[in-house]
Amino acid sequence: MDFGYSQQEESFREEVRDFIKKEFPADLRWKFGVTFTPSVQTHEGKDWEYVSGMRAKFGAKGWHSLSWPEAYGGKNSLFLQNIAWEEILYYNVPAVDHIGVTFFAPTLLKFGTEEQKKKYLPGIAKGETYWCELLSEPDSGSDLASLKTTATLDGDYYVLNGQKTWNTGAHKTQMGFVLTRTDMNLARHRGLSYFALDMNTPGITVRPLVNILGEHEFNEVFLDNVRVPKENMVGGLNKGWYVTMMTLDYERFAQMFYPAVRSYLDGLVAYLKEAGIKLDAAFRDRLAYLYSECEMAKMIHYRAMCIMAKDSPSTYEVAMDKMYNCELAQRAADFGVQVLNNYGGLCGNSKYAPLNGWPSYYYLDTSSYTMMAGTSEIDRNVVATQGLGLPNE
Ligand SMILES: Cc1cc2nc3c(=O)[nH]c(=O)nc-3n(C[C@H](O)[C@H](O)[C@H](O)COP(=O)(O)OP(=O)(O)OC[C@H]3O[C@@H](n4cnc5c(N)ncnc54)[C@H](O)[C@@H]3O)c2cc1C
Repeated sequence: MDFGYSQQEESFREEVRDFIKKEFPADLRWKFGVTFTPSVQTHEGKDWEYVSGMRAKFGAKGWHSLSWPEAYGGKNSLFLQNIAWEEILYYNVPAVDHIGVTFFAPTLLKFGTEEQKKKYLPGIAKGETYWCELLSEPDSGSDLASLKTTATLDGDYYVLNGQKTWNTGAHKTQMGFVLTRTDMNLARHRGLSYFALDMNTPGITVRPLVNILGEHEFNEVFLDNVRVPKENMVGGLNKGWYVTMMTLDYERFAQMFYPAVRSYLDGLVAYLKEAGIKLDAAFRDRLAYLYSECEMAKMIHYRAMCIMAKDSPSTYEVAMDKMYNCELAQRAADFGVQVLNNYGGLCGNSKYAPLNGWPSYYYLDTSSYTMMAGTSEIDRNVVATQGLGLPNE
């Protein structure tokens, strides 16, 4: 495996950095939450307009679709896409609707009809249409195939009934993708179908859920006789499980937090130096190890990227990638609040809070990383069974 970037790829990185320097003032770096996490969906008013504007600017550059085939306006390069994502994660730029861009679009490219691609991809590429994910239900999370939401054929429409939950940004998105049960008689994984859903369809109710930070990022979504045109089915009748597994692979792949962790550690080190805080041996040891772990996380991610770029099965590699990156973010966040002692726990509205209170924010925000996009325990099951060939219990 060759992880060296070409000169052309490195000059592209410079181009993205120049864009960020020009368009995204450094003092906003700790303002919008961590790029690619639900926290970016919490902003309102002028702040939300700013987020939308950044997404559109990134889209105007063609940087939401770099991994797409040229026929759909892309550059056919997951490597270029990864460079753009590394930079926006490092500088914490809220430039991507990560659900639409990082996991729905690649799923649609693989399983969608030509009409669906023509209809949905341009809005994602331009950074104008945002998507939410409607998979989890109150009694179906890790065991997703137990879901109860139904879709019943009625003429040219499927009629959807049920409840989804933990739906990031559903209050801010025009579109969603939803997994439903279309056949009760088939084995539970086989009777499921996947639809693109216009979130303005009558019968959809979105109710807020407030997270550990007191922010409205995710929601409950109720589907009450929601009529969806049958041409919105993605991947074919009762093929929804396979489509969803692809979505989840891309979703896990996008939890590539090593640049964000590196950025946080760089911020901490700069603060510690400026404040003249000397670290004892134990903290220095942990800090050095966290920096090494960022490199490990990057290598694990690059391995998954190389396999994905070849279109080979990558479920085990992306499970390891997601698990390692998310747990690393938690370890770095834990280190940050401890090394700053009581100051690490102060919120941004305190004049004594280091880095505008980012350490305490980051500590709480990262607490959900090992649950979102599938839990670390499930990732470890995947590594054990698909990677190591151990039997299921
Ligand atoms: C911040 C955030 C954003 C989210 N956004 C979305 C979204 O946009 N759309 C969406 O559909 N969902 C979303 N989710 C939901 C997420 O996908 C689920 O939380 C996740 O799949 C786990 O399901 P659960 O919460 O029902 O936990 P459960 O499945 O009930 O699990 C509870 C505990 O049991 C463990 N466990 C369960 N089964 C096993 C097993 N077989 N082996 C070992 N351990 C096991 C789990 O690891 C976990 O620790 C989000 C979650 C979070 C935290």
